[in-house]
Amino acid sequence: MKGERARIVIIGGGFAGVECARTVRRTLRASEAEVVLFDRENHLVFQPLLAEVVGSSLEPSAICAPLRQMLPGVSCRTEEVLRIDFDRRRVVYATREDMTGELAYDHVVIACGGASNLSIIPGMSDHAYPMRTIGDAVELRAHVLRQLERAEVTEDEAVRRRLLSFVVVGGGYSGVEAAGEINDLVRGAGRFFPHIRQGEVSVSLVHSGEQILPEISPSLREFAAKKMTCSGQIRLLLKSRCASVGVEGVTLADGRFLPASTVVCTIGGTAAPLVERMPKEIAREKGRLLTEPDMRLKGQSRAWAIGDTASIVNAVDGKVCAPTGQFAQRQGRQCAANIVRAMRGEATRPFRFRVLGQLCSIGGHSAVAEMMGLRLSGFLAWFVWRGVYLFKLPEWSRRFKVGLDWAWDLVFPRDLGIVKADTTQRHALSYYDAGQYVFRAGDPASTFYVIQSGEAEVVRSVDGQERVIAVLKPGDFFGEKALAENRPRTSSIRARTRLEVLSMGRELIDDMTRRIPPLAAALKDAILRRGDQGWQNLPELQGALREMSVTEVMRSIEPPLLRPEEPAQAALDAFTDPDRSHCLVVDGVGALVGIVTLDDVIRWVPQAKPGDTVGTLMHASPAAVTLGDTALVAAETASAHGLRRLPVVLSATDRSPVGMVDFRDLMRTGHGLPARAPAAPVAAQGPSCPVPA
Ligand SMILES: Cc1cc2nc3c(=O)[nH]c(=O)nc-3n(C[C@H](O)[C@H](O)[C@H](O)COP(=O)(O)OP(=O)(O)OC[C@H]3O[C@@H](n4cnc5c(N)ncnc54)[C@H](O)[C@@H]3O)c2cc1C
Repeated sequence: MKGERARIVIIGGGFAGVECARTVRRTLRASEAEVVLFDRENHLVFQPLLAEVVGSSLEPSAICAPLRQMLPGVSCRTEEVLRIDFDRRRVVYATREDMTGELAYDHVVIACGGASNLSIIPGMSDHAYPMRTIGDAVELRAHVLRQLERAEVTEDEAVRRRLLSFVVVGGGYSGVEAAGEINDLVRGAGRFFPHIRQGEVSVSLVHSGEQILPEISPSLREFAAKKMTCSGQIRLLLKSRCASVGVEGVTLADGRFLPASTVVCTIGGTAAPLVERMPKEIAREKGRLLTEPDMRLKGQSRAWAIGDTASIVNAVDGKVCAPTGQFAQRQGRQCAANIVRAMRGEATRPFRFRVLGQLCSIGGHSAVAEMMGLRLSGFLAWFVWRGVYLFKLPEWSRRFKVGLDWAWDLVFPRDLGIVKADTTQRHALSYYDAGQYVFRAGDPASTFYVIQSGEAEVVRSVDGQERVIAVLKPGDFFGEKALAENRPRTSSIRARTRLEVLSMGRELIDDMTRRIPPLAAALKDAILRRGDQGWQNLPELQGALREMSVTEVMRSIEPPLLRPEEPAQAALDAFTDPDRSHCLVVDGVGALVGIVTLDDVIRWVPQAKPGDTVGTLMHASPAAVTLGDTALVAAETASAHGLRRLPVVLSATDRSPVGMVDFRDLMRTGHGLPARAPAAPVAAQGPSCPVPA
């Protein structure tokens, strides 16, 4: 080592990353190396015990260990790494202010685990519960308990049976443990629910293989299967593939239908998003990063990959290591040792680890275990299982917490309370004066908003300056993305004029979207529209539009301007011009109050009534930008509303229309091309007739 202080950046605070950080820190002095660990969350999740949280045997906090308390001497950063620039040796991360930052490294360790891919089976992502994060486990436990509460009070027997039917997809460790825990929770709770009969409860485990738990020996597999199915407790559906999941249950590939109101998905592991975003040259197999025997990323001298995210060959048997906690921890430790060797100019060593054993809890105070040549099953194995996991927990404080929870669980019934982190459910009207913030970037997301009157601005920090990026109008909603993704707000929302918004808490909006499918579809659509437009991923185009005023791309308004009180016939007459697609509507003082589109006219004609006016057909309070806005605001506003053309008004307070902007003109001008000649008459596209921008 040559004297200067090296920086080792570790991405991911799971088993692998934590062990790696801890080992480097123990081996190298602070003057030799700075260790920086990035994780989206500020804690490690002990995933092997997630099923126990679902089954209410453990409190969620017992299996989460705060990283900075576990890793003294390591600089822990609760931030998401967006990408790695291998050539410049930098990691690029998202800051809380929705900006990006860069950090240079001497060595980078990629330990970002895997992700769940619920889209492998139709309907799975809409109707099934994954089990990978602590949030998944808490949500699933609450859902299971809600089904019990609903089953207790329903009069309809068929509904009760469906509410009490639980299907777990996947017969590996996590599927078996989840099925066992849900079964114990639901059946154990029976005595507190007098209207639920045990015969009405059904827990099924669907597995495509011939036997569950393919990782352990056949005799233990058989024991596990026999124990789980004894007295009809859990139904095993082997050699069965799940074809689709719906709100009523699961359809299998052979056509059988399993009614269920709870479906748990433990299959479909996939690459972490960070890995998916890596350039094609970074070799991977089945989504996992390919490494050299010493865990160095293939083709890279200062990048390493460990844990579930990596495909590492074990020198003991020449096989690729399984994605398990045991391997992740050992890889973390040995990778740290190799980094130190590389820094000292010594030869690195290939990864080598002899598996110590396999343990799996199957419910009913029973487990199966294979350890150091010994095979155990039943209560003794369960006892060993608990003992081993207790001592695998990363801290003494967690061990005590878990030990106490387990001791409690042996004596007292499981906790059936549905504890919600949300505040009191409410919907309320709130008022903001122009310039006031509804929320700011970085705030936690717990509320969804619909604009009742007035306009709001979407504000982001760009190059350290607050910039308006879009304008929202009455009827628009916001806040849905952060709520759906359970992350802090990424933009601020500020009142542009006096603003009235209806706010709804998370539970309320969740409930409404469950009950009103078109609302769920509209939200999904808005999330896609607002975040997934190709042009929004082109920083140069965004930069060019940001520097440009709408006046530079504005076209003039094509007369006539209609008035709301005019007979509807006036709109019909205006649309005799074959090139016209819109007409703007202004009030007595010339302020923009509506838009009539060709679609509106066509829809109106069959149901026309004498006395109908332009006001009958028009869309009131259309989206508009002002003369002071940038071209980027116009492009974002058009995108967010799915519009091709937008009116331009004088200012936020004076809504006199002064021109129109066309989305295609914006794109062309942003790319440095001339806008199309305004040959055709220009008109706005109304919200009822969104033309995808
Ligand atoms: C339900 C379940 C049960 C399991 N049971 C067992 C078992 O009984 N025995 C066993 O050995 N194994 C078990 N496993 C597998 C075991 O938990 C994993 O193999 C192990 O957690 C992998 O460790 P890791 O460090 O590679 O990844 P993880 O533990 O998944 O950690 C990855 C970390 O990286 C962070 N991260 C990801 N992307 C980014 C980013 N871009 N920026 C910043 N941070 C990021 C994540 O927040 C996460 O904290 C189970 C897994 C599950 C899901």
